[in-house]
Amino acid sequence: MDNSNSNGLNADEKLATLRFICDNKSHITVDNNKCKNCNEKVCLNCCPADVYEQIEDKIEVNYENCLECGTCTICCPYGAINWNYPQGAKGVRYRFG
Ligand code: SF4
Ligand code: SF4
Repeated sequence: MDNSNSNGLNADEKLATLRFICDNKSHITVDNNKCKNCNEKVCLNCCPADVYEQIEDKIEVNYENCLECGTCTICCPYGAINWNYPQGAKGVRYRFG
């Protein structure tokens, strides 16, 4: 199947056009106490940028890659994710057109 869009780019190529201005402070935190009771671990699959990673029994956050789509805040069944926009002009920069 052809995954390219009208610009002729596939999803990976489109993601490669993004620019990030990294904040030194994470805009995402996870309450790992709530994660202990979570069997679904939806965060590991719902995030298009693979921000969430399970390391031993904890969920770690690679916030630098966040696309600011908001999906994880909807998918987490236990409300364990505290998500805010990055500070100031930090975070992802999309190109339009
Ligand atoms: S889906 Fe939510 S509660 Fe479950 S592991 Fe991920 S962040 Fe924790
Ligand atoms: S907002 Fe989107 S890209 Fe960022 S961590 Fe959540 S699901 Fe991943």
